[in-house]
Amino acid sequence: MINVPELFGESVFNLQVMQDKLPKEVFKSLKKTIDEGVPLDAGVASIVANAMKDWAVEKGATHYTHWFQPMTGITAEKHDSFITPTKDGKVIMDFSGKELVVGEPDASSFPSGGVRATFEARGYTAWDPTSFAFIKDGTLCIPTAFFSYSGEVLDKKTPLLKSMRALNKQALRILRLFGNTTAKRVYPTVGAEQEYFLIDRKMYDARKDLIFSGRTLFGAKPPKGQEMEDHYFGPIKKRVSDFMHDLDIELWRVGILAKTKHNEVAPSQHELAPIFSITNVASDQNQLMMEIMKKVAAKHGLYCLLHEKPFAGVNGSGKHNNWSMSTDTGLNLLDPGSTPAENSQFITFLLAVIKAVDEYQDLLRLSVASAGNDHRLGANEAPPAIVSMYIGEELAGVIEALEKDVKYSGKGKQLMKLGVDTLPDLPKDTTDRNRTSPFAFTGNKFEFRMLGSTFSIAGPNIIINTIVADELRQFADELEGAKDFNAALHDLVARTIREHKRIIFNGNNYTEEWTREAKKRGLLNLRNSAEALPYFAAKKNIELFERNSVFTEREVTSRMEIMLENYGKVLTIEALTMIEMGKKDIFPAVNAYIAELCNTIMAKKPFGLPWTAEGELIKKLSSANESMYAKISEIETLLVAVKEITDVKEVARFFADKIIPVMQEMRAYADEMEVNTAKKYWPFPTYGDILFSVS
Ligand code: ADP
Ligand code: MG
Repeated sequence: MINVPELFGESVFNLQVMQDKLPKEVFKSLKKTIDEGVPLDAGVASIVANAMKDWAVEKGATHYTHWFQPMTGITAEKHDSFITPTKDGKVIMDFSGKELVVGEPDASSFPSGGVRATFEARGYTAWDPTSFAFIKDGTLCIPTAFFSYSGEVLDKKTPLLKSMRALNKQALRILRLFGNTTAKRVYPTVGAEQEYFLIDRKMYDARKDLIFSGRTLFGAKPPKGQEMEDHYFGPIKKRVSDFMHDLDIELWRVGILAKTKHNEVAPSQHELAPIFSITNVASDQNQLMMEIMKKVAAKHGLYCLLHEKPFAGVNGSGKHNNWSMSTDTGLNLLDPGSTPAENSQFITFLLAVIKAVDEYQDLLRLSVASAGNDHRLGANEAPPAIVSMYIGEELAGVIEALEKDVKYSGKGKQLMKLGVDTLPDLPKDTTDRNRTSPFAFTGNKFEFRMLGSTFSIAGPNIIINTIVADELRQFADELEGAKDFNAALHDLVARTIREHKRIIFNGNNYTEEWTREAKKRGLLNLRNSAEALPYFAAKKNIELFERNSVFTEREVTSRMEIMLENYGKVLTIEALTMIEMGKKDIFPAVNAYIAELCNTIMAKKPFGLPWTAEGELIKKLSSANESMYAKISEIETLLVAVKEITDVKEVARFFADKIIPVMQEMRAYADEMEVNTAKKYWPFPTYGDILFSVS
C-alpha cells in the first residue's frame, strides 16, 4: 500500500522540515523572510544551509545546484558537490550560507538579448526562499532568480516575483478602501492544467522530426483520428495508467499537488492538473512537472510530447492558466461572496481585470506567442488569436445594469445599488462554461486558455499580474481621494464598464462572425508571432512595466528580441529537418517504389497483362516527387536569403510570410506520396502507427 500523506513532500525542505531541523529563532527569522519578503541575514543563512545539507545528505544527496529559469524557457542547473577537502586528505560534506544564497554560474551561453556584453559573462543566482528547495536525482535543488552583474534580469522568475510585488501593493490599497484591515498580503494564485501526448518510444526514435523539432513535419491524416470523440475522458489504457501512477508518486514526492488526470480529445493525448498554489511556486512546479513527465515516460518505454502541435489535423496541446488573487488570510478576491459589501469589492477587482485585458490585449497575446503555438490559436481547437473575455450571461446582466444604473432582474434577486444589494447567484459549475473563450471567468477565477503546452507559465503571469496591478493602482488613486466613497465607486464602475465592455464576448469564439464583430469593436487580431511580438516594446507597454518596476525598457526590448530570435531559430530547425528528411528519406524511398513499379510493368508486358494502375501511380508519384524536390530547393534559397536580413522583426516576418507557406507546400507533396506509397517503402512510422502506438 502506498501511504500518500507520508510520501507527499518527502523530497522537499518544506516548513515542516524547517521547523524540525532549525533552532526556533532561526526558523522564525526564515519564516519572516518567506512570508514578508524581508532579507535574510547572513548568520541565519549559514545555519539554514547547514541544516539543509544535513537533511539532503541523509536523503542520499551528494550535490547541490542553484536551479533557475533562463530565457531558454526550460530550467538550468549546474551541479556542485558538497565535498570540501580536509588537511588529512579526506573530505567532509559542506555547504555554506553564501553558497545557499548566491551562485555565480557562467552565464555567457544563456540568451540575454544583448543585455549583457560578452566580456561580462558573469551572471548571479539568488535564492527565492518562498519556493522550497527539493531533491532531484541525488541533487539538492535550490530555486533561484538569475540576473547579470549590473543587475539586469536574465530569467523568468525575477520579473514574476516583481509583478507579484506590484500586485500585492495595489490590491492591498483597494482592500483597505473596503475596510479590510487584517490582510497583510495579497498574492496571485495559479493552477496550470497541462496537456501532453504519450507515444511509444520506438515511434519517437524513428522520426527525425520528432527528435529535432518535437513535432511531426510530415504525416498524412490517418483513417481514424479524433472524429469518433471516443478518447476524451475515455478509459485509460493499462500502459498509460501505469505511467500516470508512477508520475503522481514522483510529483507528490517533490511536493506537487497532482490532482486530476484524464484522457484528452486526441488519441494518445492526456491532461494533468495540480491543485493551485501561489504563482511563483506554481511556475517552478510546472517546470519541474514537465521534466518529471519526460523522465517517467522514459522508464515506461514511452515518450512524452509536450509540443503544442505534434500532429497536424489532430488537436494540439495547451496549458490552461487558472488565475486568481488571494489574501494571506485565505480570501479569494475573485469570489463574489454573498453580502453586498463583498459583492462591491468583488465587482471592483473584476473590473480591474476587465480593463486590464482590454487595454493590454497585445501583451496577453504576445505572452503566448511562439512558433509552436501559432499552429493552435485560431485553428478551431484553441481560442482564436483575438483576446476577449467570457463572464457568463448572469454577470453580463449585472454589468449592464451597473453601467446603465437600472434595476437588474435576473433569476431571483434584483440588483439596485452597489454596496446595498446582493448579486444573484452566479453559476459555478462546469457544464455551461464557454470553452472557446481565451479568458474566461469560471465562478471564482479566470482561466487564460491561450498558453501552449511547452510554455513556462511565468511569462503570461508576469503580464497578468502587472496589468491588473496597474489598473488597481488607478482605481485606488481615484477612490482614495474621493470625498464620497460610494458615489466615487459607483461612478468608476459605470465608466469602466462603458469604456471596456467591448472586450466581453460570451458567444462562440470559433466563428467567422466573431472575427468580423471583433474587428468592428476594434479588437486586435494578431495572427502569428511575427505580428504579435513587436507589440512588446510599444511605448504604452514599456511605460507600464517601468511604472510597476517589473522591467526596464532595456529588459523589454531584450526579451522581445529573444522571443523573435527564438521564433526564427525554431523555424530554421524545422525547415532544415524537412530538407533532410525530404532528400535523404522520402525522395529515395519514393524512387525505389517507382523502380519496383517499373520492373513490374516490364515483367507484365511480355504476357500482355494490364498495367494501367502501375502506370498511373508512377506518373502521380514521379510528378509529386519532382515537385517536392523543387520545393526543397525553394526553401534552401529562402534560408540563404533570410540570412541577409538584419532586423529581427523583419526576419520573423520573412519566416511567417515567405518560408512557412513553402514548407507547407513541400509537406503537402510528401503527404500525398505517403498515401500512395507501399507501406514497406515509407521511411518512417505514419500518424496511424504513432497515435495508436500505446496499448
Ligand atoms: P477544468 O478547467 O478542467 O474544468 P477545474 O475546474 O477542475 O478544471 O480547475 C482547474 C484548475 O483551476 C485546477 O488546477 C484548480 O486547482 C485551479 N483553481 C481552482 N481555484 C483556483 C484559484 N482560486 N486560483 C487559481 N487556480 C484555481
Ligand atoms: Mg480548463
